[in-house]
Amino acid sequence: MIIPEKKGPDKLQKQSFPLRFGRYSEIRTPDFEFCFNLNGEIKSIRGLLPDWPHPAEQFKRTAGNDWIYYTVGDKSGSDGIISWMGEYYLPCLPYSSNPVWEINYFSNPVVMNAMGKWSQLFGTLYMANEKGLYPQARDLIERILANDDQTLYQRSRQLNEIIGGRVSVLPPDTRHVDYDIIPLTIADGCLYHCKFCCVKSDQAFKKRSQKSIREQVAALKNHFSSDIVNYHALFLGNHDALAAGSKLICYAAQEAYDAFGLRPRVGQKPFLFFFGSVDSLLKSGHSVFEELNKLPFYTYINIGFESIDADTLDDIGKPVTVEKGKTSIFEND
Ligand code: SF4
Repeated sequence: MIIPEKKGPDKLQKQSFPLRFGRYSEIRTPDFEFCFNLNGEIKSIRGLLPDWPHPAEQFKRTAGNDWIYYTVGDKSGSDGIISWMGEYYLPCLPYSSNPVWEINYFSNPVVMNAMGKWSQLFGTLYMANEKGLYPQARDLIERILANDDQTLYQRSRQLNEIIGGRVSVLPPDTRHVDYDIIPLTIADGCLYHCKFCCVKSDQAFKKRSQKSIREQVAALKNHFSSDIVNYHALFLGNHDALAAGSKLICYAAQEAYDAFGLRPRVGQKPFLFFFGSVDSLLKSGHSVFEELNKLPFYTYINIGFESIDADTLDDIGKPVTVEKGKTSIFEND
């Protein structure tokens, strides 16, 4: 069954069942549901037969071309993970350093069969006799076939080239938009280069120019193409955008807002996410936050405190004093 255009609710909400948001396309076989974004890129795969672990579990492919399995944990429903994490399902992140829990979906042949079925569907579409198909279905198949595995991989590399490197970490708050953000780099490097950190770059902190921001915005608009209408969140990278100052943050946010067509949806402002450090927070007077509050975004700033215990800070090699940490926590509201 080919459904070239489907439309779910505009506003993202946490749901216990697999509700799709925004505009997308869908192909259903007897045993799997495949969803595609408006560019024809595969976005998610979900099993439909009773042997699939749970109707709300699925694979999702990110803009960085990683396949992430979403699990409901051991138990679904109101006494499942929602009761202790505020989430109905969570991604099984592929890195071993900080898994939320260990779910070995790799060893489940029913789950892993999803990838084989995706290759099989691609082959079937390739061989499909397009005669007799509605033009919209033919158009969808053409878009899907234009996005084979190699192309999807190249597109993820192109995204990295546009923003000047891979997004190595996202603020945890981006969970609220299921990590579907448009990344825009306004500064590289960070102030501290902490010993424990495995996402830091070797670069010293350096702001990007307004020209670089304009170029990224134009290239990102082109890259996300038709599917940009499904995004409602912007991430300003990289590790300490707050240190770039309110002028550059506001400039980048407004450029992106205008170019990407980010607008309130069902009364919900688009989201703006970025990181800050203890020093950049301490340097930011109230005027910085007043400026940020004027932006047409709902803003989350994730500050990397890590600890206000001297021994812990020493152990993890974070060059911040206890006094600074305490001041930034207790004297900022
Ligand atoms: S400041 Fe943040 S990004 Fe930089 S090294 Fe420390 S923890 Fe990592």
